[in-house]
Amino acid sequence: MQYNSTRDRNISVSSAWAIKKGLSAEGGLFVPESFPTLSMEEIDALADYTYHERAYYVLSKFLTDFTEAELKKCIAAAYTKEKFETNSIAPVYELNQSAYFLELWHGPTCAFKDMALQILPHLLTVSMKKTNESNEVVILVATSGDTGKAALEGFKDVNGTRIIVFYPENGVSEIQKRQMVTQEGNNVSVAAVKGNFDDAQNGVKKIFTDEEYKELLDRNHFSLSSANSINWGRLVPQIVYYFSAYSDLVKGGKIVCGDRINVVVPTGNFGNILAAYYAKKMGLPIARFICASNENNVLTEFINTGVYNKNREFHTTISPSMDILISSNLERFLYDLTDGSDTLIREWMTKLSAEGCYEVTPEVKERLSELFFAGFCDDAETMAAIRRTKAEYDYVMDTHTAVAKAVYDKYVAQTGDNTKTIIASTASPFKFNQSVLIALEDFNYVAGKDEFTLLNELAQKSGMAIPKSLAELKNKPVIFDTVCGRDEMRQIVSDFLMVD
Ligand SMILES: *Cc1c(COP(=O)(O)O)cnc(C)c1O
Repeated sequence: MQYNSTRDRNISVSSAWAIKKGLSAEGGLFVPESFPTLSMEEIDALADYTYHERAYYVLSKFLTDFTEAELKKCIAAAYTKEKFETNSIAPVYELNQSAYFLELWHGPTCAFKDMALQILPHLLTVSMKKTNESNEVVILVATSGDTGKAALEGFKDVNGTRIIVFYPENGVSEIQKRQMVTQEGNNVSVAAVKGNFDDAQNGVKKIFTDEEYKELLDRNHFSLSSANSINWGRLVPQIVYYFSAYSDLVKGGKIVCGDRINVVVPTGNFGNILAAYYAKKMGLPIARFICASNENNVLTEFINTGVYNKNREFHTTISPSMDILISSNLERFLYDLTDGSDTLIREWMTKLSAEGCYEVTPEVKERLSELFFAGFCDDAETMAAIRRTKAEYDYVMDTHTAVAKAVYDKYVAQTGDNTKTIIASTASPFKFNQSVLIALEDFNYVAGKDEFTLLNELAQKSGMAIPKSLAELKNKPVIFDTVCGRDEMRQIVSDFLMVD
């Protein structure tokens, strides 16, 4: 299996190369040249597999240059019972007869990014060996909160790698910030950027495309790579859990193999929902994708009108990991919907960066609306969904999952569609405890209480245990307190690597 670039389909590289590079040299994203398919018999057989076995089955179809032993070792190192506190890794919770939460937050940082970022460092170190890389790999990450911590946890103390994470100064929750600034490990660094997530991401992109800087790093035996969700090694492990969730429904007798389901995903960078779409391309019977956004509803408008327009007010919401105006992985989806037209992708992406806006063709619009339903909700609706779901089912969701649930409820009200539905549950409610408690009680209830008091309160209200990694934060010292301007990011990297 080879990988092409979305902006130049003549580029063709192995998966090891795609994972090592992260982004193609001309700015495109790597996509598989074709999609392997699973027969219904093969999908049916997955029901009796463990999560590890399901992961191997799916990943081996894509990472064909990895040996069986290499791949199994990566999977075993990533998805341990110790790190995930559950054998099933990504359990499915039955809310009622039509809605099922796919809980993707049992990993070490309590958010779904762990699903990919626990395995990426292992895929990357194997990829480095396979491509005879002698430079040390430097992972540069711009984060809206969850990615940063998950990447730090994944890469800490992994030989032959270093990692530096930039987060928007005022765009992440208190807990997220604490998780990052207390990070341990001998190869890690963290800095806050004055601005929002897009400022941080643009700053990182600028460093990646700076040829002169690349040469300077190379002379010092460093190569840049990305752990953002544009890396193929991030995306491919996410396909696994959609197969796994489907298999769990089959195994539990909730559906018979072949039944079609819907999938709802709270969406930001479009990585998670794209993985679900790729699962469908591989044969998983998914009828509809429901793309849920918060008030930063660029994608809702895009899916409903075919116009992508990032020229709008940026909202800081209670679901900060979805506060995004440029959904990078959409590029891969558009490449697929245009049957691999690198010309159209180049045209649209050039327009996006020059004018902040582009419009897709009528054919693409039509395919979009056949496959996708898109909706959004504001913070008040997000809170209402948390309160309602707790009252009705005694189940407590985090704010991102609540966006998905609120939009799903709108979808059902609008269409009457009662197809069994998997709702991606992307973070533990403990990670966003303040907003969750405001939703369940009110502002006064949380006023003056610190993060750790709130964790205890939420444990009492929800009947759930505080995740160990969050409880431990209380006693960890702050290690990183750097705040930098948008144009100082390169210097921060240089200081960390001690190059100039
Ligand atoms: C990253 C994130 C999302 C958005 O996922 P994308 O793959 O970027 O669309 C949703 N919820 C949480 C909790 C996240 O961390």
